[in-house]
Amino acid sequence: MIPRGYGPGASFCPRCAAALPGPAPTTCARCRYQLFVNARPTVGLVILDRDPPDGAVAEPSRPDLRFLALRRAAEPMRGRWETPGGFCDGFEHPAEAAVREAREELGVSITLGDHLGMYVGSYEFQDEILPVLDNFYLATLDDPHVVLDPAESAELSWFSLVDPPPLAFATMDAAVRDAVRRLGG
Ligand SMILES: [Zn+2]
Repeated sequence: MIPRGYGPGASFCPRCAAALPGPAPTTCARCRYQLFVNARPTVGLVILDRDPPDGAVAEPSRPDLRFLALRRAAEPMRGRWETPGGFCDGFEHPAEAAVREAREELGVSITLGDHLGMYVGSYEFQDEILPVLDNFYLATLDDPHVVLDPAESAELSWFSLVDPPPLAFATMDAAVRDAVRRLGG
């Protein structure tokens, strides 16, 4: 058993370490600590290879708009393609986290576009499955000279927005589909 989990499987009070009476939301019988488990905010980026012109651009007849994907160098889902992104830190706004994550993972600044949507997903971390709330943004690179962080990414590629590879997490697949819908509308 994993002691003191912080995911939905938490079985011990994070304040006093007593066994919890049941899954969260619950109240510790010893210290009355109320435990809630919420989806943690993350950001994801659908980075386009150029600014989309107004109007329909990503319909199947126009499969030329491409998005940036990274091949994961670390677990979970090592070797799978993903969109750049990561967890928000503390009180950081997702838009700020998106710019920071791009700087860290790609070594360049980006221009953020529309907020595509929020997606509830799951993320395996330290032997727990955690609920995450993925905020996806459209973006473009300010500088094409990307420098990958080898600890995070093994490779970079551009894929057609309307014919993407299976991505590491289902929320990424959903966000790319919504980007097509957004840009095609
Ligand atoms: Zn307690």
